[in-house]
Amino acid sequence: MGKITIAIDGFSSTGKSTIAKQLADCLDYIYVDTGAMYRAITLFAMRKGFITETNFDTQALIQHLDKISISFKKNKETTKAEVYINGENIEKYIRTLEVSGFVSPIATVSEVRKKLVHQQQQMGQGKGVVMDGRDIGTVVFPEAELKIFLDASAKTRAMRRYQELLDKGDDITFEAVLGNVQERDRIDSTREDSPLVKAIDAIEIDNSEMNLEDQFHIILQLAKDRIAGRI
Ligand code: C5P
Repeated sequence: MGKITIAIDGFSSTGKSTIAKQLADCLDYIYVDTGAMYRAITLFAMRKGFITETNFDTQALIQHLDKISISFKKNKETTKAEVYINGENIEKYIRTLEVSGFVSPIATVSEVRKKLVHQQQQMGQGKGVVMDGRDIGTVVFPEAELKIFLDASAKTRAMRRYQELLDKGDDITFEAVLGNVQERDRIDSTREDSPLVKAIDAIEIDNSEMNLEDQFHIILQLAKDRIAGRI
């Protein structure tokens, strides 16, 4: 049976990566977490001092982009794909609130987007891919056969992210997480290059009141219908 491209977009912490992973596992598709790629470049910029609380040296970052190579490798124990930058596994450093605080400004830079969109298009060129992000259905794969746009209330989303960070042992407050989620949504939705918008042909799902299992079955059915060419 023919393979399709599945694009999952939406606001921060709507559970895009959870559903994308579930779908990819079930359909035996490749899963690509594009947020991890923007986070990888953010960590690089932070380490080099190109972005701080008071300064963002965009030109220095742009000049170094050629030297950055991002890849994913499966962790044999967890079977999850982990992100690498120039050969270093940085998975455990990229989901902190600090990286989350800098990632949206980094993602406004057109040169950064161009580099990553190109790599994402290469990764998905054979179809059989589930990719999640902010611009997958609008920019990376406007021809994707199935586009999902996820949403949930800001408080619900912040609570989910807060719980995740607490479980990892991070010392954070709910207010800080809520502030970050809202600020990222604002920057992501209002930037000039590839703002976060629902593609006109995307199916919008608000999962504030939905459990993961129900959501998975709804979206899996949509995928199966697309694969069978029924819709
Ligand atoms: O998905 P995640 O929350 O890890 O994404 C982190 C940030 O990366 C987003 O808030 C957004 O600024 C940026 N991003 C993007 N385009 C994508 C994926 C992520 O601009 N396709």
